[in-house]
Amino acid sequence: MNVYDGWRIARMLEHRGLTQTDNVADADIIILNTCAVRAKATDKVFSALGRIRRAKKPNALFGIVGCVAREAGANAFRRIPELNFVLGPQSYHKLPEILDDPDSRLLDINLGGLEKFDSLPQLEKSPRIAYIPIQEGCNHCCTYCIVPYTRGREISRSFESVMHDTIHAAQTGAIEICFLGQNVNGYKHTDENGKLYRLSDLIRETAKIPEIMRIRFTSSYPTEMTDDLISMFATEPKLLPFLNMPIQSGSQNVLSRMNRPYTLELYCDIINKLKQARPDIQISSDFIVGFPGESDSDFDDTMKIAQKIKYINSYSFKYSPRPHTGAALMSDQIPENIKAERLAKLDAYLNEVQREFNISCIDKTLSCLLEGPDKTGKHLIYRTPYMQPCIVEYRENAPELTDIIITDANKACLRGKFKI
Ligand code: SAH
Repeated sequence: MNVYDGWRIARMLEHRGLTQTDNVADADIIILNTCAVRAKATDKVFSALGRIRRAKKPNALFGIVGCVAREAGANAFRRIPELNFVLGPQSYHKLPEILDDPDSRLLDINLGGLEKFDSLPQLEKSPRIAYIPIQEGCNHCCTYCIVPYTRGREISRSFESVMHDTIHAAQTGAIEICFLGQNVNGYKHTDENGKLYRLSDLIRETAKIPEIMRIRFTSSYPTEMTDDLISMFATEPKLLPFLNMPIQSGSQNVLSRMNRPYTLELYCDIINKLKQARPDIQISSDFIVGFPGESDSDFDDTMKIAQKIKYINSYSFKYSPRPHTGAALMSDQIPENIKAERLAKLDAYLNEVQREFNISCIDKTLSCLLEGPDKTGKHLIYRTPYMQPCIVEYRENAPELTDIIITDANKACLRGKFKI
């Protein structure tokens, strides 16, 4: 979602005649697009702002957008008085106002709901993979998570406006659509006639667009994985056989303290149903270790669920206490060294499974989407249906979507050759 926001901000400023530079000393405006999910990311923002303050041209504008802006609010100006703007994740469309009035200070951390989607300039060209946000915010209130505070309550965009963006993306270069939301499978929109649209409706409609060859969505909340959506994996071949459905912990006790009230049984049932619908489906997950009160045996349960599901790709984190969240106030916080030990153990296992899965792809032919040349320019990077990067030799006018025979693999990526 942050990648999408950053990309959208860049396009919006290009619309105003600016071009992108990687050199802070060259820039007329410097924008930090920020994440507040863990404390480390937030801390980095303020140290980066200190560096930017010294490196930038004297008249260059600088500021923060996104979740740290929303969390810090006016305090950000107190910490760094020279800041020009502090804009929350739902108000970054207002950024051009600072160009019109560079002597002002722009502060907007309101949760404006869907206003930004109507205010951002229309995109002229879509990247091959088009991210389409279909909802803002989240209603789940997991006790560790700051997102409901920074991005607000869950609100779904209308079916019509999502399809408008999707069709526009298809007409301007998109081959893959990735629907985005904090709780993407909870998408619900009721139109004026009382007709309810769900994510399955968006997928069905998008699959009819000839230019669109691949569809995916992220991230999913387990209990919102309804049967209509699961059945899409059986009926829509364009839906990729890859799903991010974070479990967070394998301990029933920890899950209930996280306020993620699903049973492991239900979670595994959903995966079984998904496998019935699409036998080649693979799952990825997020994990939090060292949540308050997590005992050795709770952590063992997390290892066990990881061993059972065999996630092919995962993100795992040490629990980080966040402001405005219930878990930060729990008295049984886990010491850093234990969190680090558990994370290392879980990561070692998850990495091994990922490596094994990648190696199991050798000799298979996978339909892959072109991402672009690598840094050396000697190779092209493609994405498999499981979003693994696959490196092939550079070829002029390489096809955008093509069959690749996998010849080698390690934990991080695959290597392959064009089938034709
Ligand atoms: N709705 C998104 C959540 C975005 S945050 C989702 O379901 O994926 C992405 C991941 O960060 C979460 O899944 C969780 O694993 C992790 N995370 C969130 N809050 C955290 C915290 N306080 N400490 C450590 N990791 C956290």
